[in-house]
Amino acid sequence: MTGLRNLIALLVACLTAGELQANPMTLQGSLQQGSLLLGTVEAGSSAFYRGQSLPLTAEGQFLLGLGRDAPSSIELRIVDLDGLQTVQKFAVARREYPIQRVNGVPSKTVTPPESDLARIRNDSALVKSARKEITAREDFLDGFQIPLVGPVTGVYGSQRVYNGVPKSPHYGVDYAAPTGTEVLAPAAGVVRLAHRDMFYSGGTLIVDHGHGLSSSFLHLSDILVAEGSRVIRGQPIAKVGATGRATGPHLDWRMNWHRERVDPQLVMKTLPVQ
Ligand SMILES: [Zn+2]
Repeated sequence: MTGLRNLIALLVACLTAGELQANPMTLQGSLQQGSLLLGTVEAGSSAFYRGQSLPLTAEGQFLLGLGRDAPSSIELRIVDLDGLQTVQKFAVARREYPIQRVNGVPSKTVTPPESDLARIRNDSALVKSARKEITAREDFLDGFQIPLVGPVTGVYGSQRVYNGVPKSPHYGVDYAAPTGTEVLAPAAGVVRLAHRDMFYSGGTLIVDHGHGLSSSFLHLSDILVAEGSRVIRGQPIAKVGATGRATGPHLDWRMNWHRERVDPQLVMKTLPVQ
């Protein structure tokens, strides 16, 4: 009897080892520029990307964001509990981004006057420090939903030309909606920044979903939550406006994984609400 049990234990061990060697990691999400991937490794392993160790949940899950211009292949290094290293390569599909011309924005927001430069620098320092804190929160695991129902009038990655002047790409998803429309938290998190009047983005809110993943909401007419407060998915957090560099009322929803800007529409596919 003991012999049989040992044999079964040995078979199970062999199967597990074989499986792990063939597939030490799984990735959920589409491998394309702007995507967010949810990886899973055996609990207790470590995962490295670009020389940095990625934080893991207790179940061995981790996030990895691919920027707008991510290279055509990426490499992940996994070190298992026994110290065994595996390097896995993944091909990343290139995306074509549309060119979008936006006319009629206030001319001072296209070529800001000297007098506004200090304010612009201060805004960007505030945003940077709001995204700096990396927490072990796992709110992202519960999934993402759209922050409001409305026509999508701008997409991630498009090359923007404002009043005829080429500017940096657009990284958010724009939803057209009347001023005052409630913006609902797409996922739970903690409010890291609530600023009523930034130069480009007007009323601006940043919510941290954990593991370096955050949402930013721009051009708001009102903010309903305070910095440091916890929000739950579906909670009204702000109101749509046309503040900052905007031609009319809309919500601009952006997402970051650390310093990489990812596409909220792909995040909702990788991490849907269950
Ligand atoms: Zn926008």
